[in-house]
Amino acid sequence: MSDENYDLETLAVRGGILRSQFNEHSEAMFLTSSFMFNSAAQAAARFKGEEPGNIYARFTNPTVTMMETRLAALEGAERCVAFSSGMAAILATVMGLMKAGEHIVASRSIFGSTVQLFSNILGRFGVETTYVSPTDPEEWRKAVKPNTKLFFVESPSNPLTEVSDIAALAAIARESGAWLAVDNCFCSPALQKPLELGADIIIHSATKYLDGQGRVLGGAVLGSKALMEGVFTFLRTGGSTLSAFNAWVILKGLETLSVRMQAHSRNALELATWLESHPKVERVWYPGLPSHPQHELAMRQQKTGGGIVAFEVKGGQEAAWRVVDNCKLLSITANLGDAKSTITHPASTTQSRMTPEQRAFAGIGDGLLRVAVGLESVRDIRNDLARGLDA
Ligand SMILES: *Cc1c(COP(=O)(O)O)cnc(C)c1O
Repeated sequence: MSDENYDLETLAVRGGILRSQFNEHSEAMFLTSSFMFNSAAQAAARFKGEEPGNIYARFTNPTVTMMETRLAALEGAERCVAFSSGMAAILATVMGLMKAGEHIVASRSIFGSTVQLFSNILGRFGVETTYVSPTDPEEWRKAVKPNTKLFFVESPSNPLTEVSDIAALAAIARESGAWLAVDNCFCSPALQKPLELGADIIIHSATKYLDGQGRVLGGAVLGSKALMEGVFTFLRTGGSTLSAFNAWVILKGLETLSVRMQAHSRNALELATWLESHPKVERVWYPGLPSHPQHELAMRQQKTGGGIVAFEVKGGQEAAWRVVDNCKLLSITANLGDAKSTITHPASTTQSRMTPEQRAFAGIGDGLLRVAVGLESVRDIRNDLARGLDA
């Protein structure tokens, strides 16, 4: 691609394309585990890093490179390193950039598996984590210790869509000598650009909106060349590699990212507005609603409210399960970022490994439901939820 200053929609369709000798139009999928060299000297130069080029698909594959280059262009990052899943990307960030005895300050409203990783696994290897409010930057400042290396936040958060002030957290991280990592899964670069807001690292679960159709697992870490060198070194030896096939699916998904995110957001806003007026609904969390506690910040920081709506049903778990079990259209699955709408009861699924005290602390009520609003007709989605709500 030429170095014109293309918009995101253009980069999503055309960024990062490497063509083979056959001049194919669509991106090629390179299903090969290794690459040949023209001579012993070339092999030596590749292994020493003196000559760029592919070596072995654990750490270099042209299809994966295309996906990394395209996503880096969308996020405005110097470099992207792809992984086999979002969790592999988060693990590699810590393994690549931190060591035993160092400290993470993390939002307490992060993906359940990320909490398990930080507390139960990394904790055993001497990396300690302090959890703070996603919406109170002062708590982050107070939690900083001399050994703090990483701030970790998801915005909007899962499942309550709390919105963090990324620019404010970036400023505190910089003062504290720590890096700010933002899990940009809920917005994708089509709606939010964390590096432009001052973050150092972006994490993606490509499994969600980047693929967008619930087909493959994938992950990515993005940031400066210097930071990504450590992350890449962990990939090269740790081996949590994105497959060429999954990279190809994600490349094709990225082509429609912007139009999909707009459509998800339109449906979600309409659904959230309807839920807010429903007598059986206690409360709705959606960043695009004026009633959302960080609505103004969200509208400054994001293009739209995104595709995730959370709501608390009156009557606790029994009432919430009634809504889930009366769905004929919505899929009962914890996945999100799919063309198909999904419904989850976080307290008994994604957040069930937390203790009841931890859940209460994080604001996850027994009547809480999360809908990842898909691309079906919003009228049909509404009618599906109404059946259980009105029962
Ligand atoms: C799904 C998810 C992850 C983990 O990604 P996987 O691809 O499932 O490993 C991390 N963060 C957020 C916000 C997620 O929704």
